[in-house]
Formats: sequence, C-alpha cells, structure tokens
Amino acid sequence: MSKRILVTGGAGFIGSHLCEKLLNDGNDVICLDNFFTGSKDNIRHLIGNNHFELVRHDITKDYFAEVDQIYNLACPASPPHYQYNPIKTIKTSVIGVTNMLGLAKRCKATILQASTSEVYGDPKVHPQTESYWGNVNPIGIRSCYDEGKRCAETIMMDYHRQNHVDTRIIRIFNTYGPNMAPNDGRVVSNFIIQALKNEDITIYGDGMQTRSFCYVSDLIDGMIKMMNNPQGFIGPVNLGNPSERTILDFAKLIIELTGSKSKIVYRPLPGDDPTQRKPDISLAKKELGWEPKVDIRDGLAKTIEYFEKKLSEM
Ligand code: NAD
Ligand code: UDP
Repeated sequence: MSKRILVTGGAGFIGSHLCEKLLNDGNDVICLDNFFTGSKDNIRHLIGNNHFELVRHDITKDYFAEVDQIYNLACPASPPHYQYNPIKTIKTSVIGVTNMLGLAKRCKATILQASTSEVYGDPKVHPQTESYWGNVNPIGIRSCYDEGKRCAETIMMDYHRQNHVDTRIIRIFNTYGPNMAPNDGRVVSNFIIQALKNEDITIYGDGMQTRSFCYVSDLIDGMIKMMNNPQGFIGPVNLGNPSERTILDFAKLIIELTGSKSKIVYRPLPGDDPTQRKPDISLAKKELGWEPKVDIRDGLAKTIEYFEKKLSEM
C-alpha cells in the first residue's frame, strides 16, 4: 500500500537513491534537505513527479507534516564536511533527531535513524557486532559526529521505551556509488577523481587501515527491509558489506579499474582515524534475510562512470 514518507537528507548521496526507490515502489515522498552537502542535481529527475515534494528545511528546527514513515538521514557524513562546523553537526544529530522523533510521536509514524559504524569508534572487537559498545574518543575531532550519532541512538531508544514510538536504528558501514559529492573528501571519491585526472593518489597514513565498502543499492534494500520489517525487530542492526580491504589495496584497485597513470603518495593520518572496520552482518541476515549482492568491481564501474560524467561537466 502507498505510504507518505519523509526522507530527511533526501538530496544527499544515500537519500537521493532512497527517494527514487520509494517513489518507484509507489509511495508519496517528501524530500527534506538544507542543501549543506546535498545537491539538487541528485534529485532533479524526480522534480515534477506528482508524488514527490522537495522542501528546503533544517531539521534542527521544528517541521510539521502528516507522514507514515520517516527516514532520518540528514547529517553531513564525510569527515571534512562534518568537521567543517562541528557544533552544527552535533546539533543536527541531537536536536534534529529529537524534532523528528516528536513528529513521529504525533503522527504515529515509524522512524528509522541512519546511524553509523562510527559508533564503534576505533574498534577493539573485530569484526564489529551490534553487541559491542565501541571505543570512542568523546573529545576528539571526530566526536561531533561519533558522539552525536551515539546520542541520537540513545534518544531513539528512550522515545521507544518512554513514548512507545516505533523506532528503527541501522548502523551504516562505508557505502559508495553514484551521487557521492565529488568534493566530499571521502576515500572513494578522492581516489576515483585523482585516478581519472592521473593525479597522485593520496593515502593517509601507511594505507594498512581497513574498510569494507558496500554498494548503495544493497544498502537501500537493507534500509527498506528494516523499515518495513513486521517482526518487531528495532535494531540496532549493522548494514554493510563484510568484504574488508586495506586502503592501499583499495588504491591499487582504483588505479587498475580506471587504467590510470596515477602514483600513490602518502600523507599524514588524520586524528582518531579507525584502524580497522568490518561489519558482522549475522543479525541482518537472520532478522531481515538481507545481505549485500553487488561485487565491488561492478559497483565501482558504475561509480567511476558517474564521476567521469561529473568531471566532464565541471
Ligand atoms: P550526504 O552528506 O551526501 O547526505 C546528507 C544530507 O543531509 C545532505 O543532503 C545534507 O545537505 C543534508 N543535511 C545535513 N544537515 C542537515 C540539516 N541540519 N537539516 C537538513 N538537511 C541536512 O551523506 P550520505 O553519505 O548520503 O549520508 C546520509 C546519512 O547516512 C547520514 O546521516 C550519514 O551519517 C549516514 N551514514 C552514511 C555512511 C556512508 O558511507 N555514506 C556511513 C554511515 C552513516
Ligand atoms: N583516506 C585516504 N585518502 C583520502 C581519503 C581518505 O587514505 O584521500 C583514508 C582515511 O584516512 C580513512 C579511509 O581512507 O582511513 C576512509 O576514509 P573516509 O573519509 O572515506 O571514511 P571513514 O571511514 O574514515 O569515515
């Protein structure tokens, strides 16, 4: 049945894919965004669809609408973007989620919070399971994001226990694909753009830190399954691809797939950069019947094609 769905951060990388999928599934979608890191380019093709509304709004302020479901994605996600205005970042997570929970409570809507693997900080448990409480620096340069997202999880659970709001928490691990902002400073966009321009590929640190990359369509499937899961499973649940690699290997793969002449150079490692990250997705498999399907080479081919087009338009 068609639902009225609010997607905050809907003009961002993940939000734009989610809006498109929800519309294709026959829903009415309100895309709310303050355009801090998102772009109208990501959703331009949806404007004009009778079932799509675009609202410029900041979730740190009240918002009123009648909706059945809320996907709360609004928050800058790349380290350079969330460190640009750290006070605003933590307000977005904490005040923003509180506003969205108030809306969910009034409308009796289900609300899904886009949390993150960053709640595990620099993890001492590997791979990361949902039962692990993490190893987070509360006063470092990543804390505006990590602690903001941890606090958002707390508020979600307290609204669930105290006010019986139907809440869902997903912990997203590094996700990539078309619609990533070319300037967001994340490893996927940086390496692909550097490779396409035959410029030096900048590895921070020695490149031995690991990440596990999930293609965006797989993540979207998991998010929608979690939102619509009728079993009373509210999470938190890890959503990510467990295929782990070092950043050095990732750089070599990008060079190979782009046929680039780029050389690898080494730059200082930013503070509190996690040394390893890999999701344990047993819970998502058991509760949602979900696991990622897209091979990294196929996902990267689509992402490289997207960045080639972006560069040709610049
Ligand atoms: P993104 O930066 O592309 O999207 C975030 C969107 O939120 C942007 O459109 C931005 O303009 C909007 N926004 C930011 N602050 C806002 C505010 N105060 N009010 C309204 N809109 C606001 O990032 P993304 O990669 O699409 O991430 C989406 C969500 O998923 C974020 O909450 C992020 O923390 C989470 N997440 C993403 C990843 C990943 O690998 N991409 C990993 C973990 C968690
Ligand atoms: N990184 C890198 N070169 C870059 C950008 C990032 O070596 O040009 C590293 C970064 O230090 C981190 C990893 O790649 O160890 C992933 O960084 P990203 O910003 O994409 O996301 P994170 O997982 O750290 O939030």
